[in-house]
Amino acid sequence: MKKILLAAWMLLILVTLQSFSQNLNNIQLEHMRQQSVRKEINLPDILGYTTLKGDFHMHSVFSDGIVWPTLRVDEAWQEGLDAIAITEHIEHRPHREFVKGDHNSPYEIALPRAQQLDIILIRSGEITRSMPPGHLIAMFLDDLNALETPDVIDALQVAADQGAFIFWCHPGWKAQQPDTTLWMQEHQNILDKGLMHGIEVFNEKEWYPIALDWGLKKDLAILGFSDIHAVTSHYYDLTNGHRPMTLIFAKDRSEEAIKDAMFNGRTVAWFDNKLAGKEEYLRAIFDASVTFKDTGHEQRGKKLVKVQNHFAIPFFVTDNEGNSTILPAEKEIVVPIQAGTTSFEVTNLFIRSQENLKVKVNL
Ligand SMILES: [Zn+2]
Ligand SMILES: [Zn+2]
Repeated sequence: MKKILLAAWMLLILVTLQSFSQNLNNIQLEHMRQQSVRKEINLPDILGYTTLKGDFHMHSVFSDGIVWPTLRVDEAWQEGLDAIAITEHIEHRPHREFVKGDHNSPYEIALPRAQQLDIILIRSGEITRSMPPGHLIAMFLDDLNALETPDVIDALQVAADQGAFIFWCHPGWKAQQPDTTLWMQEHQNILDKGLMHGIEVFNEKEWYPIALDWGLKKDLAILGFSDIHAVTSHYYDLTNGHRPMTLIFAKDRSEEAIKDAMFNGRTVAWFDNKLAGKEEYLRAIFDASVTFKDTGHEQRGKKLVKVQNHFAIPFFVTDNEGNSTILPAEKEIVVPIQAGTTSFEVTNLFIRSQENLKVKVNL
């Protein structure tokens, strides 16, 4: 009897040890999972350009954000971005009493980390005024301290003298445009002076369709950025989605090439399964992403077609009979399609506020 009891005790100890060591392994595995890994966002290069992913609107403790500048670089790297700009409010620094330094400090603090992780960091800042004209970000600056001027036009001119690319931020932000999103005389003056080159159509989690129409009509770069103040993973579902970003069609992966692309309007804004921008770029993205292949079989009098979406953007398509299909990112589907020419509307690609990209397929 004693022997049996002893054996039972031994077994229990063994099982406990075993399960303890398994728990230990689980903890180690968990620890490994939490190591930083970079998410790859596979996008096609189009029209001979390299497609880069940028977020050029975000904050740190140096204005009204709650994180240190280097964290912005780590987040960007993890989320698969190529380039970022930390864009502190020039005129609004609520943590100033505790956070010393000047307007160039966030860039200088973050730059060594950006170089380690091969993230292109662009020296930029947000000129923060009441409406009109509201908030405008100036990028590719040499010295942000020079932007501290009483008059907003002076600040924009100082930035322009440094070769800045300037864009209007969150034009439809309710706090500044409570009733309806308006293009005011002050915005026209800034545009006429050559001090506005781009406009946000996505900001944080907002979408301003009217700003897309303005941007296309006035030949501005179409942009979408996060304006993140907190930690991105607290604000966005990074597993199933991503922060707002802008796709930049650049000659190469460099700051100079990004600047050239932005001044020439080679951008598309991307957020929440929507892409907004010039028709030629959206068409090129769709054409490079999706292939149609006849399987040689038929179903209900239609051709059975293999449709492959090779890249990270899902497409929502509706044919002229009103049938809707999703082409999931990096997946293939098999669908019946009428022989001959079929027209589709891609309802998540916006070439105007009220107009989606139309594509034709010949089978
Ligand atoms: Zn702002
Ligand atoms: Zn901002």
